[in-house]
Amino acid sequence: MKTEQSHQLWLDKDDRYIWHSMKPYNPNATVVVTEAKGCWVTDVAGNKYLDAMAGLWCVNVGYGREELAEAAYEQLKTLPYFPLTQSHLPAIQLGEKLNELLGDEYVIFFSNSGSEANETAFKIARQYHQQRGEPHRYKIISRYRAYHGNSMGALAATGQAQRKYKYEPLAPGFIHVPPPDRYRDPDAADDPRQLRAVKAVDDVMTWELSETIAAMIMEPIITGGGVLMPPDGYMKAVKEVCEKHGALLIVDEVICGFGRTGKPFGFMHEGIKPDIITMAKGITSAYLPLAATAVRKEIYEAFKGTDEYDYFRHVNTFGGHPASCALALKNIEIMETEHLFDRSREAGEWLLSALKTKLADHPYVGDVRGRGLLVGIELVADQTTKEPLDVSLVNQVISRCKEHGVIIGKNGATVAGYNNVLTLSPPLCISDDELSFLVRVLTEALAQIK
Ligand code: PMP
Repeated sequence: MKTEQSHQLWLDKDDRYIWHSMKPYNPNATVVVTEAKGCWVTDVAGNKYLDAMAGLWCVNVGYGREELAEAAYEQLKTLPYFPLTQSHLPAIQLGEKLNELLGDEYVIFFSNSGSEANETAFKIARQYHQQRGEPHRYKIISRYRAYHGNSMGALAATGQAQRKYKYEPLAPGFIHVPPPDRYRDPDAADDPRQLRAVKAVDDVMTWELSETIAAMIMEPIITGGGVLMPPDGYMKAVKEVCEKHGALLIVDEVICGFGRTGKPFGFMHEGIKPDIITMAKGITSAYLPLAATAVRKEIYEAFKGTDEYDYFRHVNTFGGHPASCALALKNIEIMETEHLFDRSREAGEWLLSALKTKLADHPYVGDVRGRGLLVGIELVADQTTKEPLDVSLVNQVISRCKEHGVIIGKNGATVAGYNNVLTLSPPLCISDDELSFLVRVLTEALAQIK
């Protein structure tokens, strides 16, 4: 019975039994979804929505790929589970495939979520320095506005004060630096390469004492914190700063990885070789949980001492689950055969330019930015002062889009006062017609708040 009435019944039960992420913060009424295909999800009342967020920036190949379900099913029949304290074939095959995508030699530690992948990276970075006789290197530098996960270490690395409020104290030893923000930096015209943001990393590493810095963690583009596009060369310059101070560079590819920005990984736009790369979400297009921490071979080698504490004493039960690995291999195969990385780049260029053109004169649209199928639209009350648009108006746009069949996102409860960026991150297989529909619904929703 797919009626509004049955929808309400499910919503009542939902309210009674389910503790949602962010509830009751999320002002957009819950969608109880029953099925999905391609870019479209269907709710219990039979309404269809174009999911322009690909779930939580993750269903990269789109919904309803039966071959992914089959890959997992076949694997579950053959070998449903074995821990990676030993080994199994899907994990080895996926490790090899990830190396091929990364284009270099990395050793892969599997886990289950982006948060865990980052926690794993922090522990590896700290122990690595201990192994090499530099035990004082424990501090992890990250950027304000970035999100790195919900666990005590990953949240400590997160530079979004609102997410930490009421949960502190978190893990010690995490320090933030300002991110590049070309839209809001009053001197952006004089500093197009945002060298001041690079210098901030250098200064903090110096002031904190180089000898105490273990690593810097950064996303190629700050995603959930408001799609902050760095200038070309920024990440490369930060890598050089890390090298100067003897710190490792951890690149968080949880959202940017697997084609989101138009290349397999976001760091590839900069031609650098990160020391550690963390990934989740798109690795399975979220059909099953899986995350990975890819570690430069030389770092791994430092854990091969003979002391009983030389090895990496870090175990998890489900990480690298055979079904998740088998599914991930199929997922990557789809991305390659359908050229979804290129599709993300081309479709993203079209989307960005269409939005820029259509929204050029909108009084509340301060900035439209992004790369690949990752777009942020910063809404302001005043073009000159750039005062962020009131969050209730931002939410109105999201609700109107939903009423007209499109799910979009915004940066969450993040940096105080800056919850004003609409976000788009659709499946990479989105068609031209679907893109046009998205642009039309979004521009109409924005027109209504003029
Ligand atoms: N890093 C980034 C950049 C993320 O966006 C997220 C989740 N949105 C995480 C880490 C944490 O991933 P998870 O929710 O799978 O723990």
